[in-house]
Order: sequence, then structure tokens, then C-alpha cells
Amino acid sequence: MIACDVAVIGGGPAGSSAAWRLKRGGADVIVLDKESFPRLKLCAGWITPEVVRDLEMDIACYPHRFLTFDKLHIHLKGLHLRVPCVQHSIRRFEFDAWLLERSGAPVVQHNVKHIRQENGIYIIDDAFKCKYLIGAAGTRCPVYRAFFKELNPRADELQTATLEHEIEYDWRDPDCHLWFFEKGLPGYAWYVPKQNGWLNIGLGGMATRLKKHALKDHWAKFAGKLDRKLAPRAQYHPEGYSYYLRGKVETAHIRNAFITGDAAGLATRDMCEGIGPAIRSGLRAAESILDNKPYDLSTVTGASLGGGVPSRMLDWAFTRGAM
Ligand SMILES: Cc1cc2nc3c(=O)[nH]c(=O)nc-3n(C[C@H](O)[C@H](O)[C@H](O)COP(=O)(O)OP(=O)(O)OC[C@H]3O[C@@H](n4cnc5c(N)ncnc54)[C@H](O)[C@@H]3O)c2cc1C
Repeated sequence: MIACDVAVIGGGPAGSSAAWRLKRGGADVIVLDKESFPRLKLCAGWITPEVVRDLEMDIACYPHRFLTFDKLHIHLKGLHLRVPCVQHSIRRFEFDAWLLERSGAPVVQHNVKHIRQENGIYIIDDAFKCKYLIGAAGTRCPVYRAFFKELNPRADELQTATLEHEIEYDWRDPDCHLWFFEKGLPGYAWYVPKQNGWLNIGLGGMATRLKKHALKDHWAKFAGKLDRKLAPRAQYHPEGYSYYLRGKVETAHIRNAFITGDAAGLATRDMCEGIGPAIRSGLRAAESILDNKPYDLSTVTGASLGGGVPSRMLDWAFTRGAM
């Protein structure tokens, strides 16, 4: 059996950030992920300046595709607003592998199935044992299922359903476009270009408010719209994934076990942003272990737009009623 101080289950942004911080603090940490990196992660790959800061990234030294937007195009009920701001895009295929390698932690490809606790030690599939456990394996995280599910049941009304595809495409418009509540979608659709000829398009909405097959119908209309203007002749094979927006998260830390990122359901309620909350919660879990202090999620924002009126309106419109 392989022994370590901390086992991090999942090597996405939450897990790699936790591992990075733990390694820097001198901890004996191992990351277990069911996939071999680089691996596909369904995601638009839009990141905020806070993500760049939290990761202490020197953008000039980042070795992969990185595009900066100086505005967002918001399309709402026929209105077209150009909102000045700084945002970025990356490809998750590249970004996640880079983060994980940068963490310096050993990574073992292993699909975690069973975790039990014996005399203060966590035993994972009878193959690994550790004193501390960080659950960072996304929506179906085995740490969440083993220790947190009963205490933190997820709220159905906070579940998002998505469809997306990232393709090699010689885009012409280098800006990011978002269409809110188009044709009754309880969410939004996106066009997110990546540096050097990649493009991510997708859409998502609140699962309980979508009729069966509705996402596919929305996709067909959205692809038709893009074909007419922004992305002619692009071919898509969209896939779906589901995750949870921030609920109460009553308990994210029990004894020496923690849940982070999508495992804890931390994506923001106004923009469904999950990368930033995953990274920050991973860092906070690591600091809690290193400094023996409480795992504090109060600095992990639940609102990308700052929690003001636009944030609250989007939160309300997503979860309670389409505009
Ligand atoms: C279509 C779509 C678009 C999105 N767009 C954006 C966006 O543009 N910006 C943004 O901020 N957020 C976006 N999100 C949300 C964002 O992708 C997630 O919130 C974020 O990836 C959460 O990070 P994480 O590290 O918690 O989990 P993940 O990134 O899901 O990583 C979890 C890791 O755990 C591994 N794993 C899973 N199960 C096991 C197991 N049993 N054993 C071992 N390993 C396991 C997986 O292989 C994976 O590598 C989007 C989500 C979707 C679905």
C-alpha cells in the first residue's frame, strides 16, 4: 500500500492547486486521477484576472494558448451590449495538464472507488493510505459520496446541464460573446475563441427547468445562428456535463477530509464560473492542512459579478424564472 500525508483525489484545477500549495509547504502529497493528462475536460475555458492572480501566473511565460479579451459582448433580448472588462481564455486540455505538472506532486492514474476511515487513516481502494484527504474529483467525487453526501445534499434547483464542443477553427471574431436566455433557455450560450485557431461554443441551463431534449433543440438553433454569422461551416459534436452552483455548503471539512471545487458545488450563481472557485478552495484546503487552521470558504466567491444587482438578477433568473 502506498502511504502519504495527503491524498488529493482529482487533478483538475481544485486538486492541482491544492497539491501545488501543499508541495510548496513541504507536505508529502500524492494526486490520484482516473485520467491520464492531458485529458479532455468539457469547459468553455474562460478565466478571470483573479484566477491569474491566485495561481501567481506570469502570463508571458505560460507555454500554451492564452487569449485576453478587453470586452464581453452580451446579447440579451435583442440588445447587444459591449461591456469593457479584462477576461481571458485558455484550453482546459492544456491548462489543467500544465497546472498539474507545475504542482510538482506525484500523479498516479487511478480511478478511486472506495474510501474508508480506520483509526484516523483514510484507506483508498486498499491501495493508498493517508492522514489527510482532499476531494477534488468534480461532481461525482468519491470523497463527497463517502463522507459528505448526507450532510451536504445537493439542491436539484442548482444543477446545471450543458452541451459544448471545442474545435480547431480559424475564427474571425476574436471577442467573447454570451447570449442570455435566448429562446427561453434558462441560462446562456457562449462563443469563446482561443488563441491560434481554436474555438469553444456551448450552452447551459438549469437542469430542473429544462424539458427533456430541450438542450439539443437549443443547440440546433444556436449552431444555426453561428453558421449564419460568427462561425460559418463549423462542424460540431457536442457533449454534455452537469455540475452544481453554490448552495449552502454547510460542511466542507470533516475530521481530516475536505471537499473542493465542483465536488463541493462551488460554481458561481450568476455566471456558473467554476474554475476560479475550484482553485481558491483547493488553496484554502491546503492552507488549512499546512497551518492547522479552519477551512474557510468565505473568500471563495459565489458571484462572478461581485454580488451586486446584476449578479442577483442573473441568480434569480437562472434559478427561479426565465426572462
Ligand atoms: C460545458 C461547461 C463549460 C464550463 N465553462 C466554464 C468556464 O468557461 N469558466 C469557468 O470558470 N468554469 C466553467 N465551467 C465549470 C468548470 O469547468 C468546473 O467548475 C471546474 O472544472 C471545476 O474544477 P474541479 O477541479 O473541481 O473539477 P474538474 O475540473 O472536473 O476535475 C476533476 C478531476 O477529477 C477526476 N476524477 C473524477 N472522478 C474520479 C475518480 N473517481 N477517481 C479519480 N479521479 C477522478 C477527473 O478525471 C478530473 O480530472 C464549465 C463547465 C462545463 C460543464
